[in-house]
Amino acid sequence: MIILDEKSYIKKIIEKEKPLRTQKEINLYAVLLFEKLLKGNTIVRNIEEYLEKTDEYVQAKHFYKVTRAITYAKKHGFRIVGEIFINEWEMEVIESFNYLSEKENEECRRILFMMLYLAKAFKYYTTRLKEENPFPIKDYLYLYASIEDILWLAEVRISFKKWKKYKHEMTKHGLITPTIYSKKTWIINYFYPDSQAILKVLNNNPITYYQEYKGAKIIECESCKKRLAKITSRKYCSDCAYQMKLNAKKEIKNHLTQTIKQEFQNME
Ligand SMILES: [Zn+2]
Repeated sequence: MIILDEKSYIKKIIEKEKPLRTQKEINLYAVLLFEKLLKGNTIVRNIEEYLEKTDEYVQAKHFYKVTRAITYAKKHGFRIVGEIFINEWEMEVIESFNYLSEKENEECRRILFMMLYLAKAFKYYTTRLKEENPFPIKDYLYLYASIEDILWLAEVRISFKKWKKYKHEMTKHGLITPTIYSKKTWIINYFYPDSQAILKVLNNNPITYYQEYKGAKIIECESCKKRLAKITSRKYCSDCAYQMKLNAKKEIKNHLTQTIKQEFQNME
C-alpha cells in the first residue's frame, strides 16, 4: 500500500482508535510518538497500551513488532508528498503513447503518469532522516512499487494478463525498463528534469490532475474532500460510498433486531 501523506494517515487511525493492522502502521505510530520527543521506554509503553486497547495484545507476537517499529522510527520521519511537477517533455512522451486501441492507450497513459508521479514522489520526499540515496546516478529515475498499487492509484482496473500486454508495449518502446533487482523495481526512462514544468500535482488523488489536464471536470467527495473526476453523478469517492453502504446495512439490521424484540415483548 502506498501512502502519500503518512502523518495524516496514522493520525486518522489513532483518532478513531482503529487497530494497527500492519507493521507499517505500527512503525508510523512510533514515528508519531518520536515526533513528540518522548523517551524510548515511554514510546514502547504507549504503543503496547494502544495495541492492548484496540486489539488483542499478545506480547510474544507484538514484542518483536514494537522493537522493529522503534528501530524504524530512529531512522525515519514521515513521508508527506508535497508538490510534484510534471514537465513538458515528460507529458509529451506520455501523450504520444499510441500503439494499442484508444481505450488501451488511455489506460497506459494513466499508468505512465502514475509511475512517473510516484517515482518523483519517492525521490524528492524521502522518509530517511539522513540523506542516503541508493541510486546516486542523478539522471536515472527509479520506482519501487507493486503494479497493484500503481494500478489502484491510476484508477485503472485491468486483469494481470492485460497488464502484461501493456508492460510489453511500454518496455518495447523504451518507456520503462523492468529490472533484475525485483518485480517491483522499474526504471522510468521518460524523466526530463530539465524541461519546463507544465503541471503541478498535489497528493490529493494525483491521477485527477492528469484527468483535469485532459479536460475532465473535478469535484470533491462530499464526505472526505478527496478530489474526483466527475464521470457519473457520483458525489462520494469509492471508499466513502462503501463505508456508507456498510453503515446503512448495519442500521437496517439494528432496526430489524429492534422490531423483532418489540414484537416478542408484545407477545409476552
Ligand atoms: Zn470520500
